[in-house]
Amino acid sequence: MTRPAIHTTCCPLDCPDTCALEVGVVDGRIERIGGSREHPTTGGFICGKVARFSRRVYHAERVLHPLRRRGPKGSGQFDRLSWDEAVATIVARWRDIAGRWGAEAIMPYHYGGSNGFVSDCFLDDYYFARLGASRLARTLCAAPATAAAQGMYGRMPGVAFEDYPQAKCILIWGANPKASNIHLVPFLREAKRRGAFIAVLDPRENFSAGEIDLHLPVYPGADLPIALALIRYWHTAGRLDRGFLDRHAVGIEGLLDQADHWPLGRAAAAARVSVEAIQRLADVYAEARPAVVRIGWGLERNTNGGRALAAILALPALLGKFGERGAGYTLSNSGATKLDLAKVWGDVRWTARELNMVELGAWLTQSDLEPPVKALFIYNCNPAVTVPDQVRVLAGLEREDLFTVVHEQVMTDTARLADLVLPATTFLEHRDIRRGYGAYVVGGVQPVIAPRGEAKPNEEVFALLGRAMGWNDPPFHWDSATCQRKVAEAMTVHGRPADSAALEAGRAQGYDFPEAGPVQFGTVFPGTPDGKIHLTPDCLGDRPYEYRVVASEQYPLALISPASHQLVNSTLGEDNLPELWVTLDPSDASARGIQDGDAVRVFNELGQVVCRARVSPQIRVGVVALPKGAWRRASRNGWTSTALCPASVDNLGGGACYNDARVEVALAQA
Ligand code: SF4
Repeated sequence: MTRPAIHTTCCPLDCPDTCALEVGVVDGRIERIGGSREHPTTGGFICGKVARFSRRVYHAERVLHPLRRRGPKGSGQFDRLSWDEAVATIVARWRDIAGRWGAEAIMPYHYGGSNGFVSDCFLDDYYFARLGASRLARTLCAAPATAAAQGMYGRMPGVAFEDYPQAKCILIWGANPKASNIHLVPFLREAKRRGAFIAVLDPRENFSAGEIDLHLPVYPGADLPIALALIRYWHTAGRLDRGFLDRHAVGIEGLLDQADHWPLGRAAAAARVSVEAIQRLADVYAEARPAVVRIGWGLERNTNGGRALAAILALPALLGKFGERGAGYTLSNSGATKLDLAKVWGDVRWTARELNMVELGAWLTQSDLEPPVKALFIYNCNPAVTVPDQVRVLAGLEREDLFTVVHEQVMTDTARLADLVLPATTFLEHRDIRRGYGAYVVGGVQPVIAPRGEAKPNEEVFALLGRAMGWNDPPFHWDSATCQRKVAEAMTVHGRPADSAALEAGRAQGYDFPEAGPVQFGTVFPGTPDGKIHLTPDCLGDRPYEYRVVASEQYPLALISPASHQLVNSTLGEDNLPELWVTLDPSDASARGIQDGDAVRVFNELGQVVCRARVSPQIRVGVVALPKGAWRRASRNGWTSTALCPASVDNLGGGACYNDARVEVALAQA
């Protein structure tokens, strides 16, 4: 038997871990994918999703050639055409649209499917800026978190996973590392073994009683009252670290004024948890040193999300819990790597109108948008199932007058609605550079096999489109290796130049911190203009820390749509998660005559999802969960969780408010 040739590369999927991979290839075919033992956070293991990623590469639904729609939109009937024909068709249609409605009628739509610096927001942005197309506000995830972290700390690097075992107290707030940050879990276990107190704040019970010390099942959207109540409790007890605050923070008055409205009892009622549990959390965290807060993105997906994030980010500052390993907070660590694209492009201005991607359904269907959106180019995402208000999103994508091009790896729900589908490479077939947002690593991505069929990477597609427009700018003549090198040359990794050779060879570049990881207020400091923590940053607006109640008498259950073990956003839905389940608590199920496995309807004023019920005490009373990113085929009526989510946006960063959905669940008719 032929021994596989081992190739190194990195995983660029939307996950904090950015694993270093070893891919075994025999005769040009992927045999296995594993994690590198050399890398400190990957530690020789990876998730099952990517270990089986070759199933996507060789899937029967893989898009291998350019395709042109034959039947009605969504019918899945396509004819093959050549790349030359596809590019000529796109350029001709876009010229026509730009001539009649202006270039802003053309809209790029993309998110973090591959998430690398080369495959997203590089030559694509350069192209669309040159074209004068509309700009996209990319807000489906992390927009409020980024705005809050920027406003308060100037995106100061966070505590490294490797330093978590140093902590005596760890709060995991709005995150489920077991589903989407699995390389944090061994460090949590080590911390626990050393005696750390671990608390998890999440509507679901993702850890067993033996793994953690306290589970606070906070009602969706009520993280803000909990954080404000902790602050008031410490303030009243004289526990604030005034010396640290005087030296390092401004804006405390605005925060304390708001916190003053939140005694423990009021916060407990809003969050539907006990006063005793909040008080225990407050006391243990205040006493422990070092203590660290792992802040996830689950808590930002509601109308209070950005303000909640800001209040939680304030906690370590108020008690001065910085200055040693294992102390402080971790949110996104991506800010430690910087990319200065002006070094690549020079002064490129893209001043067209900007549309919020959360509102896709509205701007595709509203008649008074001027100019109307007449063309979409969709890549690195699957909005048919991932964007709120799915009913309107699909109505928009089904518009016969909308010219939609989708650049995609497999035939997704979105690709089925396209006029043209262009075959895209997977990360195992192309070059990229991925900045970790959890692990302190920059990952070089290199092809380990040749592209399947006629698949092309993003930058090659935009080079083709640019040349077809008759534009002779040098970037439209760069190959992928040149693009990767240009990106590497424009990057700094915590102030140092990127290791271009390592990234080109598909290796991971670590960070060069003086300690094992950054020590907040030891080796790294706020990046705000005055170097201070801004406890009431301007980005919070006129009513900082205001709590808004989301409730519905008709639809009494809060719906959350968390990450699952099967999918990365919606990636891998072609195989994984074949059947959709809604999880609900036994008492909520019993009150509705629902038993485990029953077919049920989950519904509200926006839509209805028919699926099966999973009755489990691992979700709190009053809350139900549908997994994020499931494909339409997984549900019994073709609608998924986003059909129930409003397209409302957070006033901080314009983020999506998925968890504002309120629903009812009932038995489906037999
Ligand atoms: S999805 Fe995350 S855990 Fe899985 S291989 Fe990629 S980076 Fe690692």
